[in-house]
Order: sequence, then C-alpha cells, then structure tokens
Amino acid sequence: MANRAYNFNAGPAALPLEVLQKAQEQFVEFDNSGMSLMEMSHRGAIYEKVHFEAEALLRELLAIPDGYKVLFIQGGASTQFAMIPMNLLPKGSTAAYVATGSWATKAIQEAKLFGETSIAASSEADSYKRIPSIVELAYSPDVAYLHITSNETIEGTQWSEFPDTGEVTLIGDMSSDILCRPIDVSKFGVIYAGAQKNLGPSGVTIVIIREDLIVKPAASVPTMMRYDTHAKADSLYNTPPTFAIYMMNEVLKWVKANGGAAGMEARNREKAGFIYDVIDNSNGFYRGFAEKDSRSLMNVTFTLANEELEKQFVKESEAQGFVGLKGHRSVGGLRASIYNAVPPESVRALASFMKEFHSRNA
Ligand code: PMP
Repeated sequence: MANRAYNFNAGPAALPLEVLQKAQEQFVEFDNSGMSLMEMSHRGAIYEKVHFEAEALLRELLAIPDGYKVLFIQGGASTQFAMIPMNLLPKGSTAAYVATGSWATKAIQEAKLFGETSIAASSEADSYKRIPSIVELAYSPDVAYLHITSNETIEGTQWSEFPDTGEVTLIGDMSSDILCRPIDVSKFGVIYAGAQKNLGPSGVTIVIIREDLIVKPAASVPTMMRYDTHAKADSLYNTPPTFAIYMMNEVLKWVKANGGAAGMEARNREKAGFIYDVIDNSNGFYRGFAEKDSRSLMNVTFTLANEELEKQFVKESEAQGFVGLKGHRSVGGLRASIYNAVPPESVRALASFMKEFHSRNA
C-alpha cells in the first residue's frame, strides 16, 4: 500500500495493516451470515464467539493466572479512574498513588472525589522525568490499594519493574503499554487499559481484576460503574462495543502470530533503540526528556535547542510523510509513539530523518 503514513500518533494509533485489510474484507458480510458483524445481536452465537475468543487470547498472551476476571468496559481508562475508587476504596480508607506524570495526576484527582488519597512517591519535583525507584515508595500497610501508571504516555517514562506489594492490592493503569512486554499479572489486583494504543481502536477498555476484589460496592454506586455487574454478565450486561472488541480480537491474533508478548518486547526494544541511539549520539542536538533508566519503549520524548527548531522539525517531518511527532501540548517538545503495531521500517525511517535533520541544522 503506497500511501501509508509513517504514523507516530499517541492514540488512537497505528494498527497492523493486515488487521485493517482483514477487517475491510469481513466488513460487509461476516462469516456467511448475510450481514456485517456490526448489524447483529451481541447475544447471538456469532458475536459471542468473537467476544470470548478475544478474552481467551488476552488470557493466553498476558499469561493471566486463574482467579482473575477479564472485563470489557466502555468509557475509556478515564472511567476506570473513577470506577477504581468507587469499587475499591471503602469509606474511611486511604488509597495510595504514585505521582509519575500527567495520567497518574488525573487518576489521583478523580480518586479524591471519592475518598482519601496519599502519595506513595512523586517525581513532580523532577518535572516527571523519571519513575520513582521501588525503594522510594512509602505507604501505610492499611491503604486500600497502591495505584501506579506503568507508562506515562505524555512524559515518555515507563516502569521497568513492578513493586512487590504483599498484602496491599497493586493497581496498574497500563493504557499505553499493555502487551508491549511480558508481565507478571499475579503482582496486580487490577490492571486496566484503554485499547486504542496497543490493542485496537478506541471504544473498549480492558480490566483484569482478581476475583476476590469483585465485591459489592456502596449501594449508591450506579449499576454500570460496578465491577460485579460486568463480571457476573461476562461483559455482556448491556450492549458491548462489538466493533472495538472484534478489532481487538484481530489485533490479538496478530500479536500471537508475531511472537506474543515476548515477540512484542523484542520488536519494541529494537524500535526504541533506533531513536534513543540517534538521541544519545547527537552531541546534545536531541535531548531525551526522560531520564535514561525511566525511558519508555512506547513513547519517545525529546526536545531540541529551541521551540523554533522544534516547529521546523515537525513541519519538515510532515512534508516527508511523518505524522504525530509534535509533543503533547502540556510538555511541548517532540514525541514519537511507537506502539506494538508501528512497523520497524517506520521507526528506521524516522531515525534516518532525525540524523539528516541534525546534519542540516547542526
Ligand atoms: N491513562 C493513560 C496512561 C493514557 O495514556 C490515557 C490516554 N491517552 C488514559 C489513561 C485515558 O484514556 P482514555 O482516553 O481511554 O480515557
């Protein structure tokens, strides 16, 4: 396909071309049914097969142990910022959060609507350029849970290892790095992620929750905001986003065919290496935003000497077919989001462009 952009969008983001093409083929008529999957009941056997296949693939690819439910919920990860305290922060308890950047901050603000929060560690004083080390974490053993953001999409930082929290429930927002590498799900009580970076299009959020945490919340919690509602009904309590789940299922098949979580990690380390190497060998022309040991495999953030040069970089890159390199408005600079589906060739092309731009502007 000649016209495919070098797509570095932060989310929604690049999807595997094979998946888009297969979806196109299946769009008008699905499985000899005489209709599109988008036109059929979510209670029918054909849709249910897709629904449960996606769940089974997630379980397989993330090696989710027995004793966890996998839920498909709408409202994005932002809705989980509220559902977590609504369901898991009982009155009188405190929830601990690690303040790593823009998205952790949003999660904290939302939790404050429902109860007490404490900050187990923060890198705010360092402009969120780093992930606090595990030994810095300080929280009472009585907290309802400890919440982390495994990858800060805007700052471009990522946890490289996760804390062992013992009896304390660990909750992870993995919206921007789910399935980018193998993880030990058993360390977590809850993992949640919007699909629109590594799993598919927007519209569905996955929640992986240990069964003992699916408890009856306060009576005032609305039915749709309760985990037990979705768990009891296998995420079919109401009409699920059938197209988003179908697309996620196809993306998961693609992940499996490309080596699963371990295959993704190898691919992602190679891709991230292409850009970080250019940054590190540029004599300071490109400046990585994140501290080296906190660098993200998914969102590579960097700045140039001044804003004018950054604007020129964006303009010239766009003219050459690169999309989405402008940094988030809140931190500025530049950002290349290189989620699972971004092809290594796109990243190699960006690395070449960066070297060439450097030599012309040194
Ligand atoms: N958490 C993280 C880490 C994110 O990157 C995002 C979206 N960019 C969100 C939460 C919010 O997700 P949504 O837009 O699905 O509500």
